[in-house]
Amino acid sequence: MRGGALPPYPPGLLQRSMRALYPGSFDPLTLGHLDLIERASRLFDGLVVAVLQNPGKQPAFPLERRLEQIRSATAHLEGVEVASFDGLTVAFAGACGAEVILRGLRALSDFEFELQIAHTNKSLAPHLETLFLATAVHHSFLSSSVVKEVARFGGDVAHMVPAGVARDLERLFNRSSPPI
Ligand code: ADP
Repeated sequence: MRGGALPPYPPGLLQRSMRALYPGSFDPLTLGHLDLIERASRLFDGLVVAVLQNPGKQPAFPLERRLEQIRSATAHLEGVEVASFDGLTVAFAGACGAEVILRGLRALSDFEFELQIAHTNKSLAPHLETLFLATAVHHSFLSSSVVKEVARFGGDVAHMVPAGVARDLERLFNRSSPPI
């Protein structure tokens, strides 16, 4: 083999415990995000789902509400923690003991942006790996923005978001409801 054969992995390496960080805005959580979380919770021993507090973005849902949406939708999953962070993702990955940053890929359009972020993170923290999970095909059209657009105009979002998020969207866009 050109360049010589790669050395075998040390025994047990692939079985050792690994934690992953799944960062995002989750404004709000969709069934696409949740599918990724469920699948990743089976791949890793620990998964931290972390909501980025981005001062440059005005979210539809306050941070606490987004954390609550994720907590209640993932309560049935073992090994999943929910947190928030600001600053660099690589710094937060270090703080929570994650060796892997997990991101989702829906379509080619996600790829360029995600690759740029992955390379940036690699340049900042070479020991961290970014892993991508392909979205479930029936959720590949879903994004938080699409969900908000549909809900804003009164469309049904029951097949797009967890039930608690659907209720929050109803309250957000139904002006007769008390504010979130
Ligand atoms: P960000 O602002 O960091 O992109 P998002 O909440 O939009 O935050 O997305 C977080 C991660 O979840 C990203 O990796 C994104 O590609 C992925 N993601 C978004 N929607 C879906 C979906 N429908 N299926 C799978 N992954 C998704």
